[in-house]
Amino acid sequence: MASEFVVTPPTAVSIPVAGQRARFPVRRVYCVGRNYEDHAKEMGFTGREPPFFFLKPADALVVVGEGETGTMPYPTLTKNLHHEIELVACIGTGGKNIQAADAMKHIYGYAVGLDMTRRDLQGEMKKQGRPWEIGKAFDQSAPIGPIVPAAAAGDIVNADISLTVNGTDRQHSNLAKLIWNMAETIEQMSTAWELQPGDLIFTGTPEGVAAVVQGDTLVGTVAGLPTLTVKIV
Ligand code: MN
Repeated sequence: MASEFVVTPPTAVSIPVAGQRARFPVRRVYCVGRNYEDHAKEMGFTGREPPFFFLKPADALVVVGEGETGTMPYPTLTKNLHHEIELVACIGTGGKNIQAADAMKHIYGYAVGLDMTRRDLQGEMKKQGRPWEIGKAFDQSAPIGPIVPAAAAGDIVNADISLTVNGTDRQHSNLAKLIWNMAETIEQMSTAWELQPGDLIFTGTPEGVAAVVQGDTLVGTVAGLPTLTVKIV
């Protein structure tokens, strides 16, 4: 007998996998804060601190297929919507208390993502010591491109990462500059949560975060992965 629900159940969120028909189902969206030294500095911090984490809801993802231009509506309440280009690690095998030496085996693949941020609201919450959700976890706050299986993604830990807005360079760095690399991040994160297949980890953004406005086109790249193109509407 089919299950019955008292209201319409939410649709499961999934992401296309490059070169495959089967899709990657999303469970949780974890994000790492201030994980590049020059970005930590531009946010007013020293650049050296233990990793910390926040989450976005899975249905905040804006899933953009290969070769497509995704659209993200300019969100309510903000006058300072910032871009944060990030590499996203997609967990294929779960676990808790994962050791860094074993951690990379838990990654199914990688995608390019944007941790879009209502910076004015996040700043106000920081000042008041309140949760960041209103600045970070709003609807359609996390555009993401197709996933490439790890074996096909090349030398991702040394890949260039960049973002242009309307063709102008905004962010440009290299994954080797992560303060906490992906293995260390998974080690730390899995002490706090049991990771599960379908979890995404937005690994942090390099320096150069800045505002976008309606009509802007963002093009995010990580070498070896499909480009993520998003228009703010
Ligand atoms: Mn971020």
